[in-house]
Amino acid sequence: MFVSENLAVNAQGNLTIGGIDTVSLAEQYGTPLYVMDEELVRKNLRRFHDSMRKFYGGRGEVHYASKAFCCKEMCRIVASEGDGLDAVSIGELYTAKSAGFPMDKVGFHGNNKTDEELAYALESGVGHIIVDNIPELHRLEKIAGEKGIRPQIMFRIKPGIDAHTHKAVLTGQIDSKFGFALETGEAMEAVKEAVNCKNVDLMGLHCHIGSQIFDIEPFEQAARVMLSFIAQIKKELGFTVRGLNLGGGFGIKYLNEHDPAPFENYLERVSGVVAEECAKLGIEQPYMFIEPGRSIAAPAGITLYKVGARKEIPGIRTYISIDGGMPDNPRYILYQSEYEAVVANKASQERTEKVTIAGKCCESGDLIGENMPLQHAESGDILAVLATGAYNYSMSSNYNRIPKPAVVFVNGGESRVAVKRETPEDIIRNDI
Ligand SMILES: *Cc1c(COP(=O)(O)O)cnc(C)c1O
Repeated sequence: MFVSENLAVNAQGNLTIGGIDTVSLAEQYGTPLYVMDEELVRKNLRRFHDSMRKFYGGRGEVHYASKAFCCKEMCRIVASEGDGLDAVSIGELYTAKSAGFPMDKVGFHGNNKTDEELAYALESGVGHIIVDNIPELHRLEKIAGEKGIRPQIMFRIKPGIDAHTHKAVLTGQIDSKFGFALETGEAMEAVKEAVNCKNVDLMGLHCHIGSQIFDIEPFEQAARVMLSFIAQIKKELGFTVRGLNLGGGFGIKYLNEHDPAPFENYLERVSGVVAEECAKLGIEQPYMFIEPGRSIAAPAGITLYKVGARKEIPGIRTYISIDGGMPDNPRYILYQSEYEAVVANKASQERTEKVTIAGKCCESGDLIGENMPLQHAESGDILAVLATGAYNYSMSSNYNRIPKPAVVFVNGGESRVAVKRETPEDIIRNDI
């Protein structure tokens, strides 16, 4: 009935998440409020790592892409499941380290890492660094030499695959700011250079073809392209690439009409391609990594708001204004991303209206969505926007100097604060 499996309606007719009444959560913690279901986060991680174990015979790892949703509590949960982490900034590295995350299971990403970040990654003992370009390779070689550390690295490769998704989240094609192109020979040149670097250990190759991808086929294609490059490296340089990361990007259900493939199916089909290609190319199967972000966090989360003004503009549209908006969910203004919404205290009723849900910022584009089916919403109602667990909190801002909402985790009928609500004092914290 709802987009995520952890949502239901209780006897009072209120929406529940992980069995907890969302209207009581709004009363207890205030709004806007991010709510994350720990059990579903864990279940999603297990879906991936159980499949990795099953289909790659244990020779693989799941690295949760922490940019989807990162805070100390999330890092602790990922660590307790035994999974790794993909981090892209000093802030994400610092969060993981502060949470006691095993840093040797962290891959450090980014198309323009600073010297400070590279040094910090080395000092923190990250498992590997995914190098994006030649100047970065040179900087890393130098910093690693100075520190007397020889990090494992991977190269970010553009496999040249069109993954049929929104252009802002498409990353595998030649016209992309990420990584080395295969077609131009740039990737092979980089490998030759790294093999001769004495302070880095070229462990593997990496690709990530985009995000919110529903088809399995582009992932299979990417695996074929990457493995044939690994075979070419073996043939031309006699060098064995030991690891292969095929990235994340698995699509999730945001709208009722979405029908993404179960995550297990991706792994089953892609692992089949990997085994087949390795046999055909006569290479050993590399140690495999995947980096799901959205698919772990998005379905586990919802955002709760309080409804304020209701404006019916005859013949035009009805605006439902909420006490949050683009600062806590910038995905509509960025990508016109669509969500399902429910009036949490009227969740058993039919959604009989089509409305525009508007935020409280000084921007006409500050919307959660247009033409959204909704129950008749009135001032004082609690609105739930569904599947907001990824790229909402992590992309939130203080635009209009609006303090960020709290993040609450629910599990086993209990709730707890994982990130405190910001106060106006937090807003001026760094002001001189
Ligand atoms: C964003 C990103 C991911 C995760 O993508 P999702 O669509 O959230 O699964 C994985 N790897 C890299 C390199 C990324 O940039």
